[in-house]
Amino acid sequence: MSETHRITLIPGDGIGPEVTDAVVEILEAAGKREGASFDWHRFDAGADAFAKTGEYVPKALYESIEQNRVALKGPVTTPIGGGFSSINVTLRKKFDLYANFRPVKNLPGLETKYPGIDLIIVRENTEDLYAGLEVMVVPGVAQSLKIITEKGSTRIAKFAFEAARKYRRKKVHSVHKANIMKISDGLFLDCCRTVAKGYPEIPYAEHIVDNTCMQLVMNPWQYDVIVTENLYGDILSDLCSGLIGGLGLVPGANLGTECAIFEAVHGSAPDIAGKGLANPTALLQSAVLMLRHIDEAATADAIQMALEAVYAEGKSLTRDVGGSTGTGAFKDAVLAALEGAK
Ligand code: ATP
Repeated sequence: MSETHRITLIPGDGIGPEVTDAVVEILEAAGKREGASFDWHRFDAGADAFAKTGEYVPKALYESIEQNRVALKGPVTTPIGGGFSSINVTLRKKFDLYANFRPVKNLPGLETKYPGIDLIIVRENTEDLYAGLEVMVVPGVAQSLKIITEKGSTRIAKFAFEAARKYRRKKVHSVHKANIMKISDGLFLDCCRTVAKGYPEIPYAEHIVDNTCMQLVMNPWQYDVIVTENLYGDILSDLCSGLIGGLGLVPGANLGTECAIFEAVHGSAPDIAGKGLANPTALLQSAVLMLRHIDEAATADAIQMALEAVYAEGKSLTRDVGGSTGTGAFKDAVLAALEGAK
């Protein structure tokens, strides 16, 4: 029996609590079977936390992540326009989780227009227009500062090439708009070029972001690892989710040098929240990334196999991917597949 892993758990809001409960139950079951155990430290964040503690990110939550160094997080709603600033962005900046790692891969048996997709988006997570430096210069004229640094661009490019090397990927594309933003995106591109020279065995190419959107729809198979700035990474992630069946599927890891927060690409999906319709696959696959990060590969493999068996069978799929199964029954199907694989 390995040590008990202390993990900070942020269920979030919207569909967050529903998908988080399902995922925790699956991790507990798989862990019991494979000899991994978890001590969950549960915290609210965002509007729910504010109502209870008067803080959007409670101090105890920061302390818990500092101590545990690993968190599993559901989506937290960011109000559009006024209100509080994004909790997701706040946590990424606070813990300097500079790399957002998002693997996009088809699930077996799930028919989509694009079979055989297997790419990784590496999104810079702390800079760009997400710096939150906005002012109303004079009434009717707003300004938002786009921050791109040599340090930030170099470390994300290195992360992307290291990932390409580790996962034996064939190519790295950097995605930019340096033809228009010659100084900021130009700096990002210069850093990528410099880093690429240190990895001569990995072919490197550059695509402008608008062309990339078209290319992803016409021929997504040409991409393997995409490294890009924060905003382009956000948009391309949703686009790539659509290639493999939607936002309910794609996992993510926010990685820094000290800690890691694992969360799905999707948001809080207010349109289906509280209805038992949400697909927990994206958070479950994020949890699988987390298990590999904490060296619990056997539990990760068992869950991934059970999940894939449910998709391959195709009888217990949620509504977003063409089925009619609810969140709870989907979770039960994964648990049954885990049990059946014994
Ligand atoms: P944000 O900008 O907050 O990151 P988003 O662009 O990722 O949000 P969502 O709020 O997640 O958008 O939802 C977009 C659409 O995808 C909605 O129609 C929602 O119902 C659907 N969706 C997102 N996640 C899931 C899920 N896990 N299961 C089923 N449908 C989902």
